[in-house]
Amino acid sequence: MIKQVKENVYCITGPINVGLIQTDRGFVVIDTGLDESYGRKIIKAVEELDGNIIGIINTHSHADHFGGNNYIRKRINIWTIASKMEKALIENPVFEPIYLFGGAPFSDMRTKFTEGKPSYIDMIVEEEKTVKFLGDLGISIFPLYGHSPAQIGISYNDILFIGDVVMPENVMNKYKLGYLYDVSQEKQALEKLKDTDKEFFVPGHGELMDFHKLKRLIELNLENISMIEGLILKILKDEPLSSEALFSHLIEVLNIEPDLIQVLLLFSTVKGFLSGLKEEGVLEFFIEEGKIMWKKRA
Ligand SMILES: [Zn+2]
Repeated sequence: MIKQVKENVYCITGPINVGLIQTDRGFVVIDTGLDESYGRKIIKAVEELDGNIIGIINTHSHADHFGGNNYIRKRINIWTIASKMEKALIENPVFEPIYLFGGAPFSDMRTKFTEGKPSYIDMIVEEEKTVKFLGDLGISIFPLYGHSPAQIGISYNDILFIGDVVMPENVMNKYKLGYLYDVSQEKQALEKLKDTDKEFFVPGHGELMDFHKLKRLIELNLENISMIEGLILKILKDEPLSSEALFSHLIEVLNIEPDLIQVLLLFSTVKGFLSGLKEEGVLEFFIEEGKIMWKKRA
């Protein structure tokens, strides 16, 4: 469904939201969904709005945010922009199952949810000329690192596309852990978002929000992160545990029964929590029988 957010800004809503910004030169697409079917839907939506696509900006490199790039680029001659780190992953999507597993992934790990079709990225937001190019279109970039290594928000007038920086409430209640790459950076990104002066926020998943709704969801996300940190410290209260043993305890307490892909995502998230707590000086590690063991710092 195409929804108008405000003048010149639209959103194709669904399980994954796709943004459409109508500039003087044509439409800029924010994220392209999971696969070819999304690519098709995006081209059709822009045709219905009597426009043409000039480019794509990807908030981050998860398969459900750039999966339609390949299809659109094959049909239309357009540019694509992402951050430097996310470019490397979007151009080489096998890196996602590689980093989730921590080694060569086996075939069961290489699904369309973990590995999108590769797409070339023409410009990176870290370069001054890209910033200027986007500025001429009225678009600016808002770094939101944490959920992925270098996720970006995209700002246009009073609207900010925020990628996956906040987990929707229903997803949080169901999965608790969600997916986070770097928990410390995620906390900083959430705090920074509280200070924006934008009117509307378009998340990668879930409903469009005004500032009041966003602020509430930010608080819920921060509380959820504190809850997980508290649980980890409680589990490690009596004895040191390996990363694997800690993960098993945690999913038992949270009542989650993950499948293979969820194990990859959630275990990677728990490692993000452990790194964060280590860097904050709360946890320390030692090696025992080839395992990384975690304990609370005395
Ligand atoms: Zn994501």
